[in-house]
Formats: sequence, C-alpha cells, structure tokens
Amino acid sequence: MLLVGEAQALAEFHGGVFVPTMGALHSGHEALIRRARALAGARPVVVSIFVNPTQFNEKRDFEHYPRTLEADAAICERAGADAVFTPTVDVMYPPGETIPVPPLPAAATEPGLEDAHRPGHFAGVCQVCHRLFELVRPARAVFGEKDWQQLTVVRAMAREQRLGVEIMPHETIREPDGLAMSSRNRLLAPNHRRTATALHRALREACAHERPAEAEQAGRRVLLVNRIAPEYFAVRCADTLMPLSAKAGPARVLVAARIGDVRLIDNLPWPRPAPLAKAG
Ligand code: AMP
Repeated sequence: MLLVGEAQALAEFHGGVFVPTMGALHSGHEALIRRARALAGARPVVVSIFVNPTQFNEKRDFEHYPRTLEADAAICERAGADAVFTPTVDVMYPPGETIPVPPLPAAATEPGLEDAHRPGHFAGVCQVCHRLFELVRPARAVFGEKDWQQLTVVRAMAREQRLGVEIMPHETIREPDGLAMSSRNRLLAPNHRRTATALHRALREACAHERPAEAEQAGRRVLLVNRIAPEYFAVRCADTLMPLSAKAGPARVLVAARIGDVRLIDNLPWPRPAPLAKAG
C-alpha cells in the first residue's frame, strides 16, 4: 500500500473504487474500505484522509477533530486499500487557484435539517468531493448511510453534474449498544457516551410508529427523558429529504443532537417493525 501526498502520484490508481474520509478511522470506515475492495476486483482501491476546513462551520470543531494518521494507515492496509491519499490543504486548494463550489443539489438546503444548523456545510462537502473525484478519478465511491443527507447530496451532485462516478451506499456500523460509530465518539466524556445511546433508542422508537407526527413525538420523548434537546428529529423522504407527502416512497428518520460539546447524527430507515423478542 502506498501513501500518496501529491495528486500526480495518483495517476496509476485512476478508475478504481474510492473511499473519502476525514481520518480517525474506526470499524465503520474499515467496512467501507472492505466493501470497496470487494467491488474493485483487480481495479485499485483508494482511501483519502483529509480534514476539510471548508466544511467546518466552527473553528474549534475543526481544530479538535481527532487526527490519528499512523493508526489510520494500518486500518487501510489491513482492509485492502492500494493507496491512501493524504493531501495537504495546499494540494487540495492551491494558493492562487479557485476551486469551485459546484451548484448545490436541493437536498442540501432542505429546511429543518443540517443546513439549518451548519450553514455552508454542504457547500464545503460538495466542493471537497468534487475536487477529490477530479484528482482520484474513481469509477465508484463508497459512502456511509450514517451521514444520510451527505450520501443523498453527493449522489445527487454526481448525477446532476454528470461526474461519471457511481455512489455506492454502505449501511451504518454500530457499537454493540447501538451507538453509530463516529470519529467524534472518542471526544465524548464517559457519562455522555452513555447518554449518547439514547439517539439510537429514539430512532428505533420512532420506527415503531406508522404516522410521521407520532413517530417524531415518540422519538423526541425518548430524547427528553435523557435530557437531550435535538437540533432536529424528523421523518423525511429518503431521497429528497422533504417532509413526507402522500405518495412518498422510502422514508428515513434522522436525528442530530449535541451531547455535551459533541455533535452527533444518526438515522434509520422508517418505519420498520421492531425485531421479535428472542424466545426463552
Ligand atoms: P468521515 O470520515 O466521518 O467524514 O466519514 C467518511 C465516510 O465514512 C463517510 O461516507 C461516512 O458516512 C462513513 N462512515 C462514518 N461512520 C460510519 C459508520 N458508523 N458506519 C458506516 N459508515 C460510516
């Protein structure tokens, strides 16, 4: 496996399967890389590690974002990556050059979700993904369902801009207690780590209700009991992220909340019958 800092050195890895990340890798990222490996066959698998300043709206969040390059490289190697692209800010955004922000798909600014709380975030996400696709030139890229709105926005951007890259979703990988794995989990104090499991419980509770309003209320109640005031807890169309209409297809229930200082997000397909309790 090769560590690549310069875009020119990526030429031999074009046309493969790509996994963009911000590092501080965990088993969720590892699953994405293994999926990329399985999809790629003999073609190359490229992972990028870049903490993108343009998608952070709080300087403190950017500065505190965990950086663990050595451990990350070991995970990429064992999951089967051929190259790890670790560009500097100057490689991504060369001084004197303007790296464009592509037109934002409608799902990026759907009211009541990420944009309401992180204005400009998806402009940064689209900019960095567009730039990475240009440098890595993958045939496919794997994105996690954990960041559902990001997945739908990037998929829409790739389609609308005809970027020639197929966006492949990967299911969310969770801790045994249900908490979605996230690089930010390691920033949680132990009591907050326990509280954070309520996010998944609230989503599951919402999935037991057939009407959106009841589902949202039921989920919010679980959060309230755990003293969590969510930024949003909403049932939406899975593809457009708009509130559900009568003819809506698949739906998703999504949550964002601050637990202590740490902002976490999660989501589930909605509704979904609760699994049957084990007999005995
Ligand atoms: P990040 O480095 O957190 O920006 O994430 C890089 C990629 O990994 C994104 O496509 C995320 O959706 C995905 N990802 C992060 N956490 C998980 C998880 N727990 N399960 C599956 N995919 C994840």
